[in-house]
Amino acid sequence: MNENLILRPIHYASVSGGKDSFYMLNVILNNLDKYPLEIVVHFELEIDWNWSKKVVDLMQERCEKAGLTFLRIKPRKTWKEIYDKYGFPNAHARWCNSDYKLDCKKQLNKWIAEQNCRPIAYIGFCADEVKRFKYEVGSDWNLQDCCYPLAEEGITEYVVLEWAKNQPIFEDYYKYFTRQGCKLCPFLTMKELAYLEKTDRETFDYMFDCIKQTEEKILREKGKIWKFKGYGADVIKHRVETKWKSILDAEENQVTIFDVGVKR
Ligand code: SF4
Repeated sequence: MNENLILRPIHYASVSGGKDSFYMLNVILNNLDKYPLEIVVHFELEIDWNWSKKVVDLMQERCEKAGLTFLRIKPRKTWKEIYDKYGFPNAHARWCNSDYKLDCKKQLNKWIAEQNCRPIAYIGFCADEVKRFKYEVGSDWNLQDCCYPLAEEGITEYVVLEWAKNQPIFEDYYKYFTRQGCKLCPFLTMKELAYLEKTDRETFDYMFDCIKQTEEKILREKGKIWKFKGYGADVIKHRVETKWKSILDAEENQVTIFDVGVKR
């Protein structure tokens, strides 16, 4: 028998502030016999979307009212400290995950080990996200280090997305996007970049300054050409401002037959 299994488990729900973890927390709180819960944990990143920070504040307030411990864990190094060392993250240097976000998980696992316990993480993967699973749904997850309550309950991405579209706390984000990462993410789509420009111009400008400086740094220090999204910071920024902003605006202003004649 794996000696680790003798240790007492600490069940924790990992919440990002996005729709899946929010929905998952609701499922857990309504099924505590099936999904025992000791703590709710948020890995707090400086690059979280502004709306998701408000979601986490609300979750913390409600969890504490329900008598649950809510932990916020920050990476030990700031985004800027790591950026100064490696430049803006990209497909070849994805430090935003390995050195930044996952540093929170390392701290959490260390703390759990120090309690002489073992972690069982509740993760908000849906039933149709099979490719992301480490374990099969329906197996004895008390013998595992994580479990997917949404998948266990057969809840699909579509169900959660449709629910999230109509929750004011998400500030309409899910009316335009299906999932949320970080706001300074190298993999933001053009439409997400337009959303960032529209909702947080200062961060948008900062992001493109960082990307441009990284393009110059790679050329200067490695003699290599790296261009953001294959075209470079200046071109992409210009395209967002001139084309994608209006695409996003048009989508926001779309009406259906039900809106005709109704004041907006
Ligand atoms: S969502 Fe983007 S920025 Fe955030 S950790 Fe993942 S790759 Fe990095």
